Amino acid sequence: DGGRVVMVTDLTAIKRHEIELDGLVAQLQKASAAKSSFIANVSHELRTPLTAVLGFAQIVQSRLESVIFPAVSGDAHKTDRAMGQIRENMGIMIQEGQRLTKMINDILDLEKIEAGKMVWQIEALDMGSVIRQAAAATNSLYVSKGLAFHIDVAEDLPPVMGDRDRLVQVVINLISNAVKFTVRGHVACTARRGAGPFVQVSVIDTGIGIAPEDQDEVFDKFRQVGDTLTEKPSGTGLGLPICREIVEHLNGTITVESMPGYGSTFTFQLPVAEAGA
Ligand code: ADP
Repeated sequence: DGGRVVMVTDLTAIKRHEIELDGLVAQLQKASAAKSSFIANVSHELRTPLTAVLGFAQIVQSRLESVIFPAVSGDAHKTDRAMGQIRENMGIMIQEGQRLTKMINDILDLEKIEAGKMVWQIEALDMGSVIRQAAAATNSLYVSKGLAFHIDVAEDLPPVMGDRDRLVQVVINLISNAVKFTVRGHVACTARRGAGPFVQVSVIDTGIGIAPEDQDEVFDKFRQVGDTLTEKPSGTGLGLPICREIVEHLNGTITVESMPGYGSTFTFQLPVAEAGA
């Protein structure tokens, strides 16, 4: 009768809720595991430069003795040598300290964007001026490596909707990577109209390239691929994930095309600002 049917329906409903709950619990467990491994990863990454800073601080401290004592006894040669070593050690300490600062800033930026706490200043922007600002900020990088750097911005490029500081950050990240992974040749940054109502910005290098199977992964947190694992140049593996978060927040996309041994091209597309926006 009716009562029994209701009971059976209830049981089915309960069963269905149980299955839904199991799914939810599994999802939460997965998210929690991802968070744990992220924290373990972050802690490990932060400890490396800190260990270097502390280690070299101790070496410098003990070297100071070898500056002072020969100085007292008038051994100028020994004093000079110890001073040279100290200068070198201090250089590494500063470099590692800066790397630590960049890592912490990157982690905070990524967290802020992911948590939706980033304050965005969206306006109609000329990508040409964004690129020139990023190029100026990275000038010392490519100059010190002796790499040529070209900018090629299409005339009559329409403005995009974006946040200037965040987009400069994206282009700086891409140029820094291009320079970091290029030994000889050049780096270029181009901006032109893409297919449809988009502006397309590319950062092109003639560097080491990225293997096809690694190309999707470079946008994952802390992912450093290929040879960069063994001769890992200072980096956080957070630069590209930050670029992707920023570009996607602005309704754009970012991709990479690369040929190992020949170079890489990172391209992002952003929607053109509506007239009058
Ligand atoms: P980081 O550069 O700090 O390691 P990113 O997220 O910016 O972190 O990049 C992740 C990884 O992607 C790099 O470690 C490197 O292996 C690879 N990669 C990024 N840009 C390039 C490039 N232009 N050429 C070759 N490899 C690159």
